[in-house]
Amino acid sequence: MDSKEFRIRGQEMVTYIVDYLENIRERMPMPNVVPGFLKELIPDEAPLEGESWQEIQKDIERVIMPGVTHWNSPHFHAYFPTANSYPAILGDMLSDAISCIGFTWASGPSCTELEVSMMDWLAKILQLPKHFLFSEQGKGGGIIQGTASEATLVALLSARTNVIKTLKADNPDLTTGQILDKLIAYTSEESHSSVERAGLIGLVQMRTLPTDDRGSLRIDILEETIAQDQQKGLIPFFLCATIGTTSTCSFDNLSEIGPICNRHDIWLHVDAAYAGSACICPEFRYLLDGIEHAMSFNFNPHKWLQVTFDCSAMWIKDRDLVSGAFEMNPVYLKHENQGHAMPDYRHWQIPLGRRFRSLKLWFVLRSYGVSGLQKQIRKDIQLAHQFEALVRDDPKFEIVREVTLGLVCFRLKASNEANEMLLKKINDDHRIHLVPSKIKDKFFLRFAVCATSTQPSDVGFAWSVIQELTHSLIQ
Ligand code: PLP
Repeated sequence: MDSKEFRIRGQEMVTYIVDYLENIRERMPMPNVVPGFLKELIPDEAPLEGESWQEIQKDIERVIMPGVTHWNSPHFHAYFPTANSYPAILGDMLSDAISCIGFTWASGPSCTELEVSMMDWLAKILQLPKHFLFSEQGKGGGIIQGTASEATLVALLSARTNVIKTLKADNPDLTTGQILDKLIAYTSEESHSSVERAGLIGLVQMRTLPTDDRGSLRIDILEETIAQDQQKGLIPFFLCATIGTTSTCSFDNLSEIGPICNRHDIWLHVDAAYAGSACICPEFRYLLDGIEHAMSFNFNPHKWLQVTFDCSAMWIKDRDLVSGAFEMNPVYLKHENQGHAMPDYRHWQIPLGRRFRSLKLWFVLRSYGVSGLQKQIRKDIQLAHQFEALVRDDPKFEIVREVTLGLVCFRLKASNEANEMLLKKINDDHRIHLVPSKIKDKFFLRFAVCATSTQPSDVGFAWSVIQELTHSLIQ
């Protein structure tokens, strides 16, 4: 494809994208295909000669769309949202065109510097403690990681390296293996599976702690566990708290557990993958109370802040502790400006290469402004409360946990099996899509407000589908 043709095909693709998003309501949120469906639709081997764009374009509807899960359908209420907006799509288009790999300042000065500025902009919008900002001339700063899972892993590995270095400095005879055997990390029983996985990858024990009846990790259990583990000769070194858990959107109590972590030199990482976006609204900022105790903090603008995947914002209180843990300096990556005012982000992450992700964040923040983003968050939360009211009005159902943001956890006042059957009916029906969860052996359904285009009528539609299927289940 030459530039002349790209001009035409690019415009056609933009038209296709706009039509797709404007008419997405008409598509079933979940595809009705079986594993292996796509293999039947394309040849077994790549073509030897190139094909015309018309041929390729035709196959988007024939091959791809039948198996697409439409996360941005207003009838998609599973998981958590994945954000989407035209300014973000434009940002990704430009990033793809520039295609710089900004692993050092020198390999992409604008890529690095826009990210530095955007992370400070975001930190200010969230009213994060000043020590997380680059502009404060301290040791803090932010980076865009690909996912919350990577952010947790980077935090855990940094904490692990630093505790090993400190212990070895005090006890030169200790081996890394001996220390690793004694390290213990904590998280709550309701945190995301990626936290436990970080422990697996980092080769450290991860203890999952029980939560209170609101799903919150509290001080008593933490203090008690630390004391018991220390008695056993273990070394507590890392805790991942969650603000907005995946199952029920509950919140660990940072103001309580933060000072305990600080007192015991435990690295506190806060995972607010979904709920962090809501904290741009002053009325929800209280959810981050206690964040000043954290060593690192992360949330996903790609979930609920109009920025397309991937864009996971992570801040670090002392960037030397992260870059010190991962620093490698082969000659081919060195440059004469390293170690000066701007970071070389390669030291803050697992991969070397990185995309120009701050472009889409910049476009989104400028296009909507903080007030536009707040408006969207408030609208989604209102819709969740609309759904909650419908559930509460029906004596056959119960709400499982307090609804704070855009997630409603609910269930039939019946056995787990009955709720599992209801969920299966809903998803087999294909008009809406939900996923379940289970806490303390109670199976329930999750209704998340996902697409930005979701309207009160979509919430009403979802509830009418659920009622109709409940009725047929009871019959
Ligand atoms: N943490 C929480 C609280 C989440 O809800 C999720 C995903 O929904 C994750 C982490 C994992 O997110 P990611 O896909 O960005 O790794």
